Amino acid sequence: MGLWAMVAGVLPATVAAQPPCLAPRDVSFAPSPPRAGTLFRVHLPPSLAASVTTARLAGEPLHFRTVGDSVSAFAAVPVDSTRGLTLALLCTNGARVDVRIPTRDGEYPLERLTVAPRFSAPPDSALQARQRREAARAAEVSRASHATPRLFTEPFLVPRTTRITSGFGGGRTFNGTVTSRHMGTDYAGAVGAPVRAANRGIVRLVDGFHLGGNVIYLDHGEGLVTAYLHLSRHRVAEGDTVSRGQVIGDVGATGRVTGPHLHFIVRYGNVTVDPESVVERK
Ligand SMILES: [Zn+2]
Repeated sequence: MGLWAMVAGVLPATVAAQPPCLAPRDVSFAPSPPRAGTLFRVHLPPSLAASVTTARLAGEPLHFRTVGDSVSAFAAVPVDSTRGLTLALLCTNGARVDVRIPTRDGEYPLERLTVAPRFSAPPDSALQARQRREAARAAEVSRASHATPRLFTEPFLVPRTTRITSGFGGGRTFNGTVTSRHMGTDYAGAVGAPVRAANRGIVRLVDGFHLGGNVIYLDHGEGLVTAYLHLSRHRVAEGDTVSRGQVIGDVGATGRVTGPHLHFIVRYGNVTVDPESVVERK
């Protein structure tokens, strides 16, 4: 090895040539502060955006894109977030910048619900294993969605325009004990009523789940996934590309339900958010 190789190995010449990394104060949010259990936007100054190589928040990668002179990405606040979040940015010069994001409480209500007796006892181990398998398949749709390019250009729609019978985020009590949060929005509907795709996407999962009944999971790209539960009928197959507003299934009462309705889920990666923070209301 000659002298030049050694010099090239020790001189930090490449570091000086890199663009400067941005500072935490350069990053802004909308809305600010974001609320627990919602989707929000992270904005970077266009002049410094090229210095950011990766960004992660709440365990999920962010996908920045430039529209006009604005550089922004979707990000999600977990529903149980109470102490704010840290956005971890990695710059081209190798520096890591941590940006503290204060968050607002979701103020989700507590709801009492009576369910069929067969669901009030803890599920047996075989059933638990089935539920875990089904949850893992749904989680895989979310994980893989980060590698799908963004498939939509228009805002998200409500899958049904009927009234909301149960909102997102409420704690549910089964027989007096809080056991879970309601991680979706319920829309009224009779069996057979149409369910529409919230946006353009690829059908990644069509199956019958124990809790969700007949389900459809759509991958909209860049981490955004929507799911439609308790359907009486599927009208699409895995691998189909669906358009925004296309009828993909029928309202039903399959899975763990007390009556027919649509349970609608929106996820950014594996962070489930309030659909009302995503869909456009006219
Ligand atoms: Zn529901």
